[in-house]
Amino acid sequence: MGKVLVLGGGPAGVSAALYARRSGAEVQVVFKGYGTSALSKAELIQNYYGLPSPLSGAELEAHGIRGAKAVGVEFVEDELIALEVQEDFRGFRGLSSHHSYEADSLIIAAGASRKAPPLPGLTELAGHGVSYCATCDGFLYRGKTVAVLGAGEYAFHEAESLLPHAGKVFLFSNGEQPAADPPAGVEHRADPLLAVEGNERVTGAVFADGSRLPIDGLFVAIGTAGSTELARRLGVMLEGQNIKVDARMATNVPGVFAAGDCTGGLLQISKAVQEGAVAGLSAVKFLSGK
Ligand SMILES: Cc1cc2nc3c(=O)[nH]c(=O)nc-3n(C[C@H](O)[C@H](O)[C@H](O)COP(=O)(O)OP(=O)(O)OC[C@H]3O[C@@H](n4cnc5c(N)ncnc54)[C@H](O)[C@@H]3O)c2cc1C
Repeated sequence: MGKVLVLGGGPAGVSAALYARRSGAEVQVVFKGYGTSALSKAELIQNYYGLPSPLSGAELEAHGIRGAKAVGVEFVEDELIALEVQEDFRGFRGLSSHHSYEADSLIIAAGASRKAPPLPGLTELAGHGVSYCATCDGFLYRGKTVAVLGAGEYAFHEAESLLPHAGKVFLFSNGEQPAADPPAGVEHRADPLLAVEGNERVTGAVFADGSRLPIDGLFVAIGTAGSTELARRLGVMLEGQNIKVDARMATNVPGVFAAGDCTGGLLQISKAVQEGAVAGLSAVKFLSGK
């Protein structure tokens, strides 16, 4: 029938995987591991159907994954840094720093997107030099000086995709030790940041010691790529920070579905599970029509 790649091992992703697998598809779930979902952070769940006594979020997460494994869903612990359409447009690819996962259909269920750090200038200058997607906006900075804010694999990936366009690329790790050596050609500044400055557009960065560095653009890539960052580079339409879906949980990109906290609305397990079920069935319907 074909393969569905599910990004996320929380209630939305696992529910999607269950429904897709039980409808006959090969299903692979990529998630960052146990304890990384919003679900796993919940101390006690008391408002979900069928729990005679409260369960911790971590327990419910483990039960969910165990149940999906029992029907043949494959789980891989890895961090995806990009989603893309295959060159022949026949399918999709999820990329981590060391692996590529290919599939005929994609379900994004990576939870709610992260908030940007509380850095003065970041919110005000969003869309005016502050960007959250190097693949989408990198070409706007041809020959210019840009910086990526972050210290992990995702930030490295963003910096690398800016190198062919920008005149100069910095990595601002904002006081953090980067996960490894930054990519060749990228200049690392470790100093903590105080603010991003500029009136109508970004003009520079101010560091905690008061020093300034002129930059034309700042790409925020802190921690790991979230649902909206990953969706954006596929050309998936957003509504604010949420992925825009129809009643079938389909996005505007054929074959790409989304479910759970990443679509906004009620941020609760019951809603994530329901949307996951619909997305899983819709993905299978998409595969059978291919
Ligand atoms: C403290 C707290 C308490 C809560 N209490 C309740 C409650 O009592 N009742 C209730 O109904 N709801 C509660 N919620 C909300 C509920 O947990 C969420 O609505 C639900 O978990 C959303 O499910 P999801 O699958 O969309 O996302 P999540 O549960 O956040 O799962 C996201 C998944 O995506 C994966 N992922 C993300 N990025 C990547 C990447 N780049 N590469 C690979 N994998 C990735 C993560 O590893 C994770 O597996 C609570 C939330 C919190 C934070």
